[in-house]
Amino acid sequence: MANIAFIGLGNMGGPMAANLVKAGHKVHGFDLVQVSKDAAKADGVSIAASATEAVKGAEIVITMLPAGKHVLSVWKEVIPAVAKNTLMIDCSTVDVESARHAHARAAEHNLPSIDAPVSGGTGGAKAGTLTFMCGGEDFAFAQARPVLENMGKKIVHCGKGGAGQAAKICNNMILGISMIAVSEAFALGEKLGLSHQALFDVSSTSSGQCWSLTSYCPVPGPVPASPANNDYKPGFAAALMLKDLRLSQEAAKAAGAATPLGAHAESIYDAFEKAGHGDVDFSGIIRHVRGLAK
Ligand code: NAD
Repeated sequence: MANIAFIGLGNMGGPMAANLVKAGHKVHGFDLVQVSKDAAKADGVSIAASATEAVKGAEIVITMLPAGKHVLSVWKEVIPAVAKNTLMIDCSTVDVESARHAHARAAEHNLPSIDAPVSGGTGGAKAGTLTFMCGGEDFAFAQARPVLENMGKKIVHCGKGGAGQAAKICNNMILGISMIAVSEAFALGEKLGLSHQALFDVSSTSSGQCWSLTSYCPVPGPVPASPANNDYKPGFAAALMLKDLRLSQEAAKAAGAATPLGAHAESIYDAFEKAGHGDVDFSGIIRHVRGLAK
């Protein structure tokens, strides 16, 4: 069992740190917010007075922070304080450039590092069933894998530093686009007098089948566990979907890739957020789609 520092004990980081405690690790945590620290403490995480204090004696440092600027600032602060050979793991969803900078900073100090963003949401974080998409050298991935297995059930090595973030934003670009596509189909079906169940029964077993339809259906009824049945409470908030679509478009621009539907999906979620719905589940975009009808 390892000494692990966990920085960023929010909606995702809190339950992930709790699962590391359950697996028998000694977890030292830090967050800026008192309520997150209190919740983590109740789950067996010992709370440090600062990020630098949390990493003292740690063999592994994990960060789970809002965005790239937070990760770079925390890594800059803690890296000079960590012991030789400490494994640095960032599980936040950040832009590919920031992920590469973070790896470079670790490499300057000869520290192994992995970018390991997740999918599975807060439910997966609590249940320990997250999917981790990892980027980094083979030896760093081999070291990280057993620890990630304490928090997730599928761990994929996607390539060198930044490849985990690349996989994450490509996947979520598919998700954002497909949720709008499924919402448009239901909105059109409503206008054509088609029942939700009839469209679901056909498309879920036909070529329109996809996760946004069969696991996360944006209308109530066909998939009882989907947020549509719970007044679109997240789930996965539209603001987070917009964040990931923005990251995909920044990456597409930097890499010179054409992603016209990704760009359109970003603008649709941007309008949804500006209308005050950022905290609604991202499948609530169907309400926005219906509202576009003339
Ligand atoms: P959150 O806002 O609940 O948690 C982030 C935590 O980081 C907060 O508690 C905040 O106080 C802390 N923090 C910020 N700056 C800090 C610093 N300098 N030092 C210490 N702590 C600091 O966010 P979350 O939902 O836990 O998401 C975390 C990351 O995971 C994000 O990058 C998000 O995009 C990604 N993610 C979230 C979900 C989800 O469903 N919530 C799913 C997949 C990925």
